[in-house]
Amino acid sequence: MSRAAPLLLALVAVAGCTRPAPPVTPPTPVMETPRRVALITAPQGDAEWNALGDEAAALLAQYLRIKTTNPPGNEIVAARWLADLLRREGIEARIFEPRPGKANLYARLRGDGSARPLILLNHMDVVLASPEYWQVDPFGGVVKDGYVWGRGALDMKGEGIVQLMTLLVLKRAKVPLQRDVIFLATADEEIGAGVGAAWFVEHHADLIRDAEFLLNEGGTTRANGRGGVDYYGVGTTEKSPFWLDMTVRGTAGHGSRPTPDNPVHRLIRALQRVADWSGRSPLIVTPVVDRYFRDLAPLERDTLARRWFADIGAALRDTMAARVITADITYNALLRNTISITGLKGSDKTNVIPPLATAALDVRLLPGQEPAAFLAELTRVIADTAVTLRPQGPNWSATESPVDTELFRAIVAAARARHPDAVVTTPMLAGFTDSHYFRRLGIASYGIGPFPLTQADSRGVHGNDERLSLEAIRFGVRFYYDVVTRVAAR
Ligand SMILES: [Zn+2]
Repeated sequence: MSRAAPLLLALVAVAGCTRPAPPVTPPTPVMETPRRVALITAPQGDAEWNALGDEAAALLAQYLRIKTTNPPGNEIVAARWLADLLRREGIEARIFEPRPGKANLYARLRGDGSARPLILLNHMDVVLASPEYWQVDPFGGVVKDGYVWGRGALDMKGEGIVQLMTLLVLKRAKVPLQRDVIFLATADEEIGAGVGAAWFVEHHADLIRDAEFLLNEGGTTRANGRGGVDYYGVGTTEKSPFWLDMTVRGTAGHGSRPTPDNPVHRLIRALQRVADWSGRSPLIVTPVVDRYFRDLAPLERDTLARRWFADIGAALRDTMAARVITADITYNALLRNTISITGLKGSDKTNVIPPLATAALDVRLLPGQEPAAFLAELTRVIADTAVTLRPQGPNWSATESPVDTELFRAIVAAARARHPDAVVTTPMLAGFTDSHYFRRLGIASYGIGPFPLTQADSRGVHGNDERLSLEAIRFGVRFYYDVVTRVAAR
């Protein structure tokens, strides 16, 4: 004991040294109160639009200072802040508080009713941030080096603010609308359950059921880093979660006398088969993914890749090409049902063989895949009757919105107006957003990315140093307004 203690202390000291030093944050250059841009008519020139972009940036800095890390979320504070802002502009907002501290906010700008409403959907909650890895306070609303920094800048308070600005500009300029524009800010997106969009759709469907369209996160506008845009990615469909609990029962006992049916050993053998299979499970080209690769083909500089992408189905029949393409984890996720083994549980005590052992499998299915068929296939792969698989957590089948709609055409037109040569494509999302709740009500729902971002710019999503440039915000405010007015203005 006395010998071990100094070693332990030494280890702790070493561990302490390897942690990054706490950031030396210079005095936070806090942006002043947002300067409200008054409007008599719809904004015209660059100067007016830039001023609106700067107002949005200042609002975003304020919004990022409201800590809505989920759990617990505490979205009520954000909802009250948004409601105050809207009320000052003469827009009534309703706050729903399903549970203390949890909130959804709903506001509706009236049109003449000749067309059905458009919903602007955004979530107020964010994931956690570890300040020791950030250059700035993630909840400081810091503005420096031409960026607004903070947890949620990209996912998705930035887009929420751009939606809000769209509403404010429509209201200030008294733009005549043919459809109502609904602003819906929700809780609990980041935990994939709870009392956010799912709760709202279940309890207040009457407030949104008449909507024809919805805009949400889940799109990408890919900047090329040279001032241009490679492509506008519009989210029309997502993979669906099919999370599984895997359980093995055996005989409990003392760890000193091994038993042949130790459930932990059996679980590990089964998981090994699952892990092996997940890397060689069937490759499936859905129509959306086929189109996506074909759209991206002209952007590929490599001749071989260009040929592969032009006909991804044919390329995947070549073993070598399939190996290269699926080595990219994003492409891999678009081309097969995936399994990530994420949780393991056996005994709490080293010397006790537990009566059961469990694992958690994060399974994601491509649109059109039958969960029951997948489960049967996995059971065949595991080939052990002592192993049971049980669906748990979020489970729903994938939904898709059509592309032959007025809103989709409006997005394409707004994109082409800015970048005539940019590709507009429909990448399938490997993860999921709240859009599926609304697609199931028959509302055509699209993910759009209002900010042109390079791959490096996007790294802050759920990561460190999440930030959004003032330039991107200016672009986003104008782009979003353009999309919305193309479909909603009279
Ligand atoms: Zn999000």
